[in-house]
Amino acid sequence: MTALFPTYKRFDLAVERAEGTTVEDTDGKTYLDFGAGIGVCNLGHRHPAVQKALEEQLERYWHVSNLYHNPIQEKVAALLTANSSGNQVFFANSGTEANESAIKLARKATDKHKIISFEQSFHGRTFGAMAATGQEKIHAGFGPMLEGFSYVPFNDIEAVKAAVDGETAAVMLEVIQGEGGLHMADSEFIEQLSHVCQENNLLLIVDEVQTGIGRTGKPFAYQHYGISPDIITSAKGLANGVPVGAMIAKESLRDTFGPGTHAATFGGNPLAMAAAEAVLTNVFKDDFLQEVTEKGTYLKKQLEEMIGDLSFVSSIRGKGLMVGIECSQDVSAVVPQLMEKGLLVLVAGPTVLRLLPPLTVSKCEIDQAVTLISEALTGKKVETH
Ligand SMILES: *Cc1c(COP(=O)(O)O)cnc(C)c1O
Repeated sequence: MTALFPTYKRFDLAVERAEGTTVEDTDGKTYLDFGAGIGVCNLGHRHPAVQKALEEQLERYWHVSNLYHNPIQEKVAALLTANSSGNQVFFANSGTEANESAIKLARKATDKHKIISFEQSFHGRTFGAMAATGQEKIHAGFGPMLEGFSYVPFNDIEAVKAAVDGETAAVMLEVIQGEGGLHMADSEFIEQLSHVCQENNLLLIVDEVQTGIGRTGKPFAYQHYGISPDIITSAKGLANGVPVGAMIAKESLRDTFGPGTHAATFGGNPLAMAAAEAVLTNVFKDDFLQEVTEKGTYLKKQLEEMIGDLSFVSSIRGKGLMVGIECSQDVSAVVPQLMEKGLLVLVAGPTVLRLLPPLTVSKCEIDQAVTLISEALTGKKVETH
């Protein structure tokens, strides 16, 4: 019996330590980590620059509250706004909290309450973010949901237009749906969506909790589409494993969140900020992002070559180092098989294997992972019923 709530169905692996792309278990077995803590450890486990920043901050101060100025928050906010369409940052402690902040900001700024989001989206587990999530299984048992959310099919602009009414405040989306199955937005759809938002005075909220911080080869994934969102949310990769969340918004929304409107005791915690500053100064560099793009292209090419022709594999897709392998049937049994072989991977929905290696992964590690995936999938036949 464990004293923990059984909220997670855990694999049979107990972690001892981790470094770079490698995780070691308590039996001394090592694994290549192509999950990176669910897209969190973008610089790999215990990256030296992040570790140094944390150690230095430990010697300075850990927490003094947001009653006082924390210069390190200004530095991180400046890095985020210099690399996005936003000008103001609110710091929270997780992805769901960043989205909660975005929902509150959108309602207050527009004095409207409806938000359109997408089927198969994932925005988090608190009441606002859960309601924004377009997946029945995430809502089950927790109703009634927060009012005002409607879910339309992804990449369907007519459905978005049909859902807009006089009470609509915002449209919220992931440009690549992470948890929901690695579904990618079409460029044309995103362009049209941006127009629909402008024409109807709707705020465009892009949830970059999983896709941001260099994951797709740009600081934020929306930057592949040439749009300018009003609100961007970030979390997972932002501090390489130290809990943090951020909402980045345009200057026009600044005064909506005046003193006393919204807050988080731990938001912008100095340790998280020290880690985030080290992450962003390393990740938001052209040559680093270029390498992410190249390694992502290489990973997809190797996968195409090795497993692209297997009948079990129906599609290999993604951007940068966010890659999905869609299979013709349930992949849940493949994950423990890969673990046995020494490779950690994720799933996205029942039929997609999801790879989110650290952005610092080497080509050699990519080759090893592709070989293991190929070994696990070769010989798998499509079941005929
Ligand atoms: C993980 C995730 C969240 C939730 O983040 P938490 O830190 O677990 O609250 C929200 N949106 C997206 C797109 C995510 O991938």
